[in-house]
Amino acid sequence: MAVCLAAALPRIVSADTIYLKNGRKITATHVVQENGQVSYETSAGRLSLPASIVDRVVREIESVDSPRTTPPDKAANLPIAPPNALAPPANDEVTRATVRDGSIDLALLAKLEAEADANPTPTAIARVVAAETAAAQFGISVGDFEQAATHYNVGLRYAPDNVALLLEAAYLRLRRSEYSAALNLLDHARRIEPDSPDVAKLSGWAYYGLNRTEDAVSEWKRALVIRPDAEVQNALEKAERDAREESTYREGETLHFRLRYNGGAAPELAREVLRTLESEFNEISSTLDYVPPEPIGVVLYTNQTFMDITRAPSWVGALNDGRMRVPVEGLSTMTDELARVLKHELTHSFVTQKTSGRCPVWLQEGIAQYMEGKRSRSAAGALSGAYERHMEFSLASYETSWLNLSRETASSAYAWSLATVEAIVTVDGMVSIERILDRIAAQSATEDAIHAVLHDSYADLMQSTVQYLRKAYF
Ligand SMILES: [Zn+2]
Repeated sequence: MAVCLAAALPRIVSADTIYLKNGRKITATHVVQENGQVSYETSAGRLSLPASIVDRVVREIESVDSPRTTPPDKAANLPIAPPNALAPPANDEVTRATVRDGSIDLALLAKLEAEADANPTPTAIARVVAAETAAAQFGISVGDFEQAATHYNVGLRYAPDNVALLLEAAYLRLRRSEYSAALNLLDHARRIEPDSPDVAKLSGWAYYGLNRTEDAVSEWKRALVIRPDAEVQNALEKAERDAREESTYREGETLHFRLRYNGGAAPELAREVLRTLESEFNEISSTLDYVPPEPIGVVLYTNQTFMDITRAPSWVGALNDGRMRVPVEGLSTMTDELARVLKHELTHSFVTQKTSGRCPVWLQEGIAQYMEGKRSRSAAGALSGAYERHMEFSLASYETSWLNLSRETASSAYAWSLATVEAIVTVDGMVSIERILDRIAAQSATEDAIHAVLHDSYADLMQSTVQYLRKAYF
């Protein structure tokens, strides 16, 4: 069984949709309206919008079984709040003028920059920093992280030693799994403020994301010495659990991978794993037209340690929570089955990084199974029969974590996910999958992304999937 999971533990949440007056919509959780602000939770942390640009908020209460959030990259989604600065922008004149009625006043930004270029007084520079920060925060709040990063960069060009700005820019990088870029910004901030607890806290996170667990542990310990912090405490405990387990492990490294494996596993197997992963990397990279920005962490386990560390249900064969965690008990050489599991898990890493952790589980599992080479031939009859009995799969309710599913339900969920992706790829081409992922990355809800690319609702997609199965296999 090459089953695996890509999601973190489920939580009870209410998923809401915030409709902006300019037509955009944001799917978020924990939406709160107060004091003229609408604040909400996203994968980039807690964010706020001025209530004046919000048209309405539509609430949807989810049950325990179908939570909406999908945070598969645990490193990117560590429960760490933004450094104080990402709070709603200071309520001064420049900030208010920069973002008005749901858009950024680019002419004002250009004017402030020209003034600072002509006469770089501290006041002129402070104005540019305030305006670019407000613009970046607005970008984050509407899910436009590219634009946000650009605004931080402009701000840093005028004020390269502004620690608050460096921290905010680093925080955005961390949420996007760009750990090396975050570390550059944090190293710079540390030279200016060696004893900043925020610098140590975020540096620990960057190291954790880079699978440098021991460095993460020492940064977080340092942060706690400077300032007590419950978030750091929790992150430290998790990292120490990993570090204890991995202290006896051996390591291997290639261009795209950092591998750790239990002393009991054969070094020859580890080398073969890396060789296999490198060739699969190139193939997946060209198929999905994407190159992950960071090396991918891989841990090989004996089965018992795998269960102890991951605390996953017994039907889980391997797991990807930001690192690929693969049990290799009893193997001393590469097998076809192991190569397939590696390709499956590696695909999850690509999809997670490409979508900044926003890809729903059914699509993740569908793509991963498709890439590992599975097809729907043996399941086609059962799926088509279930559809006829109106027992079709509800894609919407399988967007989030599957860790609570029974073995039987999970197996049907995997089969439907594969069939759906297989149908899309066969009928519309892999490029459609790429486009859907791009839209999800830009914070589109999945069904909206599907609709934009394929002109199908979830219900249409189910119907065309069953049509495809019948045509292909009956
Ligand atoms: Zn999987």
